[in-house]
Order: sequence, then C-alpha cells, then structure tokens
Amino acid sequence: MLGALFRGAVAFLIGIVKLPLLPLHLIRRFWLQTSPGVTPQPLLQDSETLSPSDDADKTFVEIKAIVYGSCPTDPDNDDRFGPHQRRLELTLRPALPASAKTKEEKIKWLDRFFWRISRDMKHNRDWYCEFCTDEAHEIVKMNATWVRLTPPMAKSYIHNVCDAETGTCAEYLRIMDKEMARMSGHPPTLAPTKTKFRKESKIPPTSGTCAFCRNPDEESRARLTACPKCNLTRYCSPACRRLDKSRHKMCCEAVKEVKWHWP
Ligand SMILES: [Zn+2]
Ligand SMILES: [Zn+2]
Ligand SMILES: [Zn+2]
Repeated sequence: MLGALFRGAVAFLIGIVKLPLLPLHLIRRFWLQTSPGVTPQPLLQDSETLSPSDDADKTFVEIKAIVYGSCPTDPDNDDRFGPHQRRLELTLRPALPASAKTKEEKIKWLDRFFWRISRDMKHNRDWYCEFCTDEAHEIVKMNATWVRLTPPMAKSYIHNVCDAETGTCAEYLRIMDKEMARMSGHPPTLAPTKTKFRKESKIPPTSGTCAFCRNPDEESRARLTACPKCNLTRYCSPACRRLDKSRHKMCCEAVKEVKWHWP
C-alpha cells in the first residue's frame, strides 16, 4: 500500500515536472519540420526529388510519415527526445483517385487512406511507448494535409503509446496535439477526454505483434518478418500475409522509402 502510494506520488511529481518540459521538444520538432510559412520546400527537405510518373494522368500525394516510439534501452527521461530520437521515417506516394476532385474530396480520401494504413503504421517493430517504459499498445496519428499544392502533400506524426486515453502519456499526447493544432491551423486530432471507455479486456494488442492475427504469444512474435515488397508491415506467417493482402495492398504500393533511425 505504502509502496503504491509512493509510486503514485513519484508518478505525480514526474508528471508535474515533465509536463511543462516535454512540449518544448515537441514544439521545436514540429516547428522545424512543418512550419516555415507552410511553403512546400521545407516539407521536402530530406526527401529525394519526385520521380517522374509513368502515369501522366495520375496525381500522386507526397506523404511524409514519422513513427515515434521507444525501446527498453532508451533513457527514461527527456534525453530520449530531440534530433536523434528513435523513429521511423516513411515516404508514401499513393495515387489520388480520379473521383477526388475538390479540396474536400481530396482531404476525405486522404483521411480514409490514413485510416486504412493504421495497422501498417503500428505493426512494424517491437515499439515501446514514446513517453514511458511500457510496451506500446496504441498509435495516435496527427495529420496535416496541403492538398492544393502541386503535388498535394501530407505529413503524419504517428505516436506509439502505452495508453492513448488515460494517464500521463495520454496527457502528453493531448498537450502535443493542442500545440500542433495551434501552430498548423489544422483542427486538433484528439478529443479532450480523460474518461476510459475501454474495458480492461479490450486493451489493444501491442505494436510488436502480427499485423493480421495480432497474436500476443511469444512464439508468434518471434516469427515476425516484414512484408518482402514494402519491407514494413510484419506478419507471423505467409498465411497471415496472404489473408491481409487486400487490406495491406494500398499501403504496400504507396511505400517508397523506409528509413529507420534506430541507434
Ligand atoms: Zn506510456
Ligand atoms: Zn499472424
Ligand atoms: Zn508490403
């Protein structure tokens, strides 16, 4: 009991100390990567030049997705953040369907695209929570789109967290989300909730499981291999890869570069 109280008090204090500190890293990170005038050039700073399309009548969206998280060897303090932070940088280039003509239609299609590739963004490594030392069970995507640019562009910041609904890590996410919304002019991604809707039995599977069966058994996790085509999404067996083929296709075809920052 006393031990639990002590741990609670420490967690609370860490919460107080860390909350005002953390956003500075995140604000800086977001500011450096997205902000300068929201012109197209800075968004492409670390990408290769756009390859000429074989299909001249198609419009491809240039998407930079950055997946954040940690692993058990990372320091349990602010040193884990900053320019060398553990992350996965992805370049995705999906073709916009001809039916998406207006700005609203393009944004709607991109929202759907991001939703469709959720499993691929999550099940690609044994991710631990970006903010603490627990395994990651959920991802939260913070997206910004610029569909009027040529080519249309989007950025997605994907956060692996232990719990996106309640607790200190969920609180960090909401602070970050608010800051990003304020600076980018895009609406916030997360609802301001502290209520746990999920039942304990419904805790989502960890990132380090198969993208199809999501089997938490160690034996299944030890067999995970990345899809040979995109080298991203992980499966425990060829059977699982086959069964997920129709869902995964959209992401698989869009992935152009997979760059791990995994020191
Ligand atoms: Zn956490
Ligand atoms: Zn499987
Ligand atoms: Zn693939």
